Amino acid sequence: MLRKISVLMCSMVLISCAEKDSYDPAHDYFSYANTDQFFTRHIALDLDVDFESRTLRGSVVLHLDALDSSAELIVLDTRDITVQSAIFYIADGATEVGDFTLSEADDVKGTALHIKVPAGVDMDSEIVLGIEYETSPGASALQWLPPELTAGGKHPMMFSQSQSIHARSWVPLQDTPAVRITYEAVIRTPPELLAVMSANNDPLTPRQGVYRFDMPQPIPAYLLAIAVGNLYFAPLGEDTGVYTEPELLDASAYEFANTQDMLDVAEEQFGPYQWGRYDLLVLPPSFPFGGMENPRLSFLTPSLLAGDRSLVSVVAHELAHSWSGNLVTNATWRDGWLNEGMTSYLESRLMEIIYDKDRVDEERVLAYEELLGNFDVVPLERQWLAPRLESGDADDVQGTIHYHKGQLFLQYLENQFGREKFDEFLFAYFEAFAFKTITTEEFVDYLEEYLLDPNPNTVTREQVEVWMYQPGLPDNAPIPSSKTLSNAAELATAWALGEASLEDVPVAQWSPQALIHFINSLPDDLAQEKLQQLDAGLGLSDTGNAEIARTWFIQVATRRFEPAYQRLEAHLTHYGRARLVTPIYGALAANGHDADLAAELFDKGRDGYHPLTVNYIERALQRAAE
Ligand SMILES: [Zn+2]
Repeated sequence: MLRKISVLMCSMVLISCAEKDSYDPAHDYFSYANTDQFFTRHIALDLDVDFESRTLRGSVVLHLDALDSSAELIVLDTRDITVQSAIFYIADGATEVGDFTLSEADDVKGTALHIKVPAGVDMDSEIVLGIEYETSPGASALQWLPPELTAGGKHPMMFSQSQSIHARSWVPLQDTPAVRITYEAVIRTPPELLAVMSANNDPLTPRQGVYRFDMPQPIPAYLLAIAVGNLYFAPLGEDTGVYTEPELLDASAYEFANTQDMLDVAEEQFGPYQWGRYDLLVLPPSFPFGGMENPRLSFLTPSLLAGDRSLVSVVAHELAHSWSGNLVTNATWRDGWLNEGMTSYLESRLMEIIYDKDRVDEERVLAYEELLGNFDVVPLERQWLAPRLESGDADDVQGTIHYHKGQLFLQYLENQFGREKFDEFLFAYFEAFAFKTITTEEFVDYLEEYLLDPNPNTVTREQVEVWMYQPGLPDNAPIPSSKTLSNAAELATAWALGEASLEDVPVAQWSPQALIHFINSLPDDLAQEKLQQLDAGLGLSDTGNAEIARTWFIQVATRRFEPAYQRLEAHLTHYGRARLVTPIYGALAANGHDADLAAELFDKGRDGYHPLTVNYIERALQRAAE
């Protein structure tokens, strides 16, 4: 089936036949690792966390199988890592030194570490390779926060964000989702701080500066995660809880009180939860994402602490990754829709059960509109669910297309086959591919065998491939709708025309999603004094809801509503979550007058941002300048 697909791809992007032949959709173009010759099974980390030098220092021991006994070099991924030594552990405590070289650094992929396997190493048994190393203060996965950027202001904090290809900046390894590893770790920190990892965190661990972890389930490298800080724990349910600084502990426990319910419902829907405990970690505002599905311990932005549980769909999303992504993993970043589209779909299913369908429909409409907005800016060949991905950056290739188009595709299947049949399919899918990685083509084959063929005349393979390998949306794509949001859009038009007053806008009864839709539905030519009225009447510049603030400040920047610029600046320096700040920088830089201001604000905020957020903003400013 692969050949058929490559022909399809070739005809659609008009690439030369020579390129077509050499492109392998199952190959990970973002890793140097020679996984066809060596395959890592397990790693053991032993690291000192040094806040003064902002480095991790210590060793990793990799346990590898040789798949090709004639291979002489082990190639690992690294970025900005200083390697001190490579040692092979041979039987009976003997060791042999491995000669190593580092390739020239590539901006996206980092540096390949080539280690020569000494002649004395037995290729038929497990290869044990120890590497002593040190990270750099600028490691792309790690953010080192001084005390003033934490909630408590007294202790420093450090946390990682390994997805997509940043694990290599803190551990030399095979950094591709195609390889799954178990891991153990010993982490040394200042004694007053606590370390947590994407592993078996014990809520009762005494605070003493040496922490041991074990991760018995095999995970891809991008799910390796660590955080160190003045962290405390509050239980949320029998198997769930939250870690954060003491200053945020009560608010976090309140906001995420439904987590245990979500876990129970998810198990009923998608099959057993395979990871032991499910805990949350609420980080400082500079955490670059809404959440990161690190197994057993989802990392979250504090921007979800709206005080009314209105933004907890992010927790449903991260939890759903315990099935789609963490249990069944995309083989390469091009197949990311299998992680993110599937998870967005499961998230909406969970939210329907925990809350109600109306609320989820509101979120579906907002996601759909974001997707349409992406179609305006993402190049056509990147709008496929499974794009041809051999260059560019794994982090930033296609906006939210993997998420929202992927979700719509699965919604389409559900509509066509009915929920019951589709749920049976999903349940079986998670079981069949548990702890495995999967390509888009393997998914389509499985879909054909277990859903399309047994239910003929419903959906054809060709129809599925249109979603996978064509831009935009097929004509039969479902279009989400919400009565509340339609009303909000009508009210926005009526108010702009002077046919309704602000008192007619029932904000108190609305969800934040309805207000967001109202703001996004205002006509382009709205007068500045109307913006003034709106801000004064609804308190938009002072909202405590980060999503409403994001929506409003994008409009403020686009429309050059200068009276709110001071609050806009405060928003940009408070948050480091890329979603909350990047589009505002972009809108400022693109409004025709404020490119210098955008650059100036970025200069001021930059030190407080995670390296990934810095990267996103730089690219947004660059795009606006083009
Ligand atoms: Zn996700």
